[in-house]
Formats: sequence, C-alpha cells, structure tokens
Amino acid sequence: MDFDLADEQHDFVRSLRSFVDDVIRPRAEAWDESHELPLEAVEQMASLGLFGLPFPERYGGSGADFLTLCLAIEEIARVDSSLAITLEAAVSLGAMPIYLFGTEEQKSRWLPPLAAGEALAGFGLTEPGGGSDAGATRTSARLADGHWLINGSKSFITNSGTAITSFVTVTAVTGTRDGDKEISAFIVPTGTAGFQVGKDYRKMGWWHSDTHELSFSDCRVPEDHLLGSKGEGFRNFLRILDDGRIAIAALAVGLAQGCLDESLRYASDRTAFGRPIGSFQGLQFKLADMAMKVELARGAYYRASWLKQQGRPYRKEACMAKLFASESAVDVARDAVQIHGGYGYIEEFPVCRHFRDSKILEIGEGTSEIMRVLIARELGLTGS
Ligand SMILES: Cc1cc2nc3c(=O)[nH]c(=O)nc-3n(C[C@H](O)[C@H](O)[C@H](O)COP(=O)(O)OP(=O)(O)OC[C@H]3O[C@@H](n4cnc5c(N)ncnc54)[C@H](O)[C@@H]3O)c2cc1C
Repeated sequence: MDFDLADEQHDFVRSLRSFVDDVIRPRAEAWDESHELPLEAVEQMASLGLFGLPFPERYGGSGADFLTLCLAIEEIARVDSSLAITLEAAVSLGAMPIYLFGTEEQKSRWLPPLAAGEALAGFGLTEPGGGSDAGATRTSARLADGHWLINGSKSFITNSGTAITSFVTVTAVTGTRDGDKEISAFIVPTGTAGFQVGKDYRKMGWWHSDTHELSFSDCRVPEDHLLGSKGEGFRNFLRILDDGRIAIAALAVGLAQGCLDESLRYASDRTAFGRPIGSFQGLQFKLADMAMKVELARGAYYRASWLKQQGRPYRKEACMAKLFASESAVDVARDAVQIHGGYGYIEEFPVCRHFRDSKILEIGEGTSEIMRVLIARELGLTGS
C-alpha cells in the first residue's frame, strides 16, 4: 500500500499552487463581487492545460489520470470555489460525456476546443420539476425530417451561458421502452434557434461561476447530434455523475483546507485576554477536528479515484467521499467563521466567502440525502 502521490503529481501540485497563490488568490474576492465568470482566469487556467488533463493527446489533452484532475480542482478550491467548479463542470460534466459517449466524429469536432479551454460546455440533466428524481425528465425530443425537435427546459446548468460556451448536452424523452420513459442525450450548440439561455441566478455562493436556466422551444438539431445510443442518455448521464462526485469531494476538500489554513493563521495572530486565541483549548479542539475532517475526506476521495483508475467498482466509495467531504466542508467553513469571530462575517476575510460557497456542496451532483440513498442501495438495502 502506497499513500504517496507520484512524483509528477507532487510537481504538478507544487507548480499549480504557486499559480493559485500568485494569480487567483489576489483577485478572488473582486471576481466574486463582479458576479461574472472572469474569462481571463479561464484563459490562464487553460494555458496550464487544466481543461485537457484527462483527455488523450489526440484530442488536445495531456492524458493525465483522473486523480490529477481532482488534485487541480482541490488546489483551486483552496482559494476560489467558483473557479474550481468552473473547471470541474467544464471537464467532468461538459467534456467528459463527449469523450465517453461521442462518436469519433463528435469527439474530433467538439473535444479539442474544450480540452484547450477555448470553449466550455454545459451538462443539462436537472429540470425545474426535479433534480434528485432526474428520471422525471419532461424535456422531449422527436425526430422529424432528419432533425431532432427538442422542447422543454433545464435548471441550474453550470457554464451554459458564458461568451465561450459552445454547446450544452441535454437529456430528453424520446419515447417509451418497456412501459418506462426512454431518455436519450443530445448536443445542442449555442445559438441554435429555439435554444434560449435565461439570466444568471442570484446564488448564495459560487458568485462568479456561470449558472442558467435553459429553455428549448422547437429547437432543431441535426440527427447526428444524438449523443450515445438512443435510450442510453439517462444511464450515461448517471455514469458521468459517479465521477463528478469524486471531483466534488476534491473541491470540498480544497475549500475545507483553505478554511483550515486561514483559521490557523488567524488563531496565531489574533489575541484575546493577552494571548493568541489559538492557545485556548476550546479553539485548539475545533482546529484539531477541522484538520481531521480535511485529512479523512482527502483520503476518501483519493481512494475512490484509485478504485476508478484500477477499473474496480467505485460508486459506493464515490458517494461516501462526496457525502463526507461536502458535509465536512460545511462544518469546517462554519467553524472557520466562528474562529474569525466578527471578521468571519465580513467579506474581506476569505472564510466568509468559503462559508457561502460550502453549502452547495451538499446539494449539487446529488444531495446528501441522495448520497445516503445510493450508499444504502449499494449495501443491498431494499426500497431505497
Ligand atoms: C449552483 C448550482 C449548479 C448546478 N449545476 C448543475 C449542472 O451543471 N447540471 C445539472 O444538471 N444540474 C445542476 N445543478 C442541479 C443540482 O444537481 C440539483 O439542484 C440537485 O441535484 C438537487 O435537485 P433539486 O434542486 O431539484 O432538489 P429536489 O430533488 O427537489 O430535492 C429537494 C429535497 O428533497 C430531498 N429528496 C429528494 N428525493 C429524496 C429521496 N428519495 N430521499 C430523501 N430525500 C430526498 C433532497 O435531498 C432535497 O433535500 C446545479 C445546482 C446548483 C444550485
């Protein structure tokens, strides 16, 4: 058993850390206040090859393993969760469905600009009527005259409305199979007639990530924009979420690590009753618990990534990693604000933003309740 990262992963993290500290950290607060995805940051991340990490060189990627992508997400989330989710959603939700389920022609056409970070793509699963119950899809697609006619809407779609968004993938009902809905997936290019991007949501956190409601009204895409086999869209999209959950766990670990680092620094600088507040056992216990949660959550996502890379089953471990890491991130962020006292409630202190950014981690890519449902199912419990 080897608990160490490979040398090249250590080097990768080291060089990314200086980029994050020098370039992202000083601007994160201002970007957040702008409520807009800073495309200059996307460009800089792209120049480091982050958007192409897990894809083969022939599509413009660097052929790194999945854990390396997670390490990148963790590093960025230490200081900026909005950019971390932009990267996570771009790679594991936007580009990955094309790589895993696309035809060779679709991969050659759509993947290289995504891997280069010159374009972004959205993943349209959730609808206004249901996210957890994603099979309750009401969006429909009907084949007519060599085109799919898509009607319906999607909610909360990350990276779907930026100036460089080239398409979204969406699930839609294409008929019935054995009495159940048949759900297929489609590539819908930005600018297609009938495809409307709603205005950005006013969110609790992730202020400078891009999230929109989308609507499709007699939106026509060519027949070859079907992604994967007809009727496999739902199953394929759920498979994407298995990986996405490991990546969200990595994001949660990054956020929690950022909160721990800020809190350790603050606890040694701030004094009360003539002593640094970090010398009070009450805060030392809090910091010890925070450090424990960060370490255990990191171990959980490393192991889920490792199982995936070994080609072994990993759904249960991915759900456990996502559940534990996201709930830990919320706990750690709340404690970080507490350690900062009144300053923790003020935006100039990063823990304030981290606290706002933490809550979504218990909701996106499967809520904590759904993680427990899936873990129970993996344990063989019936009725879940
Ligand atoms: C900022 C942001 C970005 C997002 N990005 C994307 C994206 O890019 N693509 C995308 O497709 N979606 C995206 N989502 C949607 C997200 O995945 C959903 O919000 C999430 O899956 C929950 O779905 P819901 O909001 O419909 O809540 P619901 O499914 O309505 O759930 C409401 C509550 O009921 C609980 N619940 C539901 N079913 C059960 C059950 N069986 N047992 C116990 N409890 C249950 C839930 O846990 C939750 O507490 C994003 C959401 C946000 C807020």
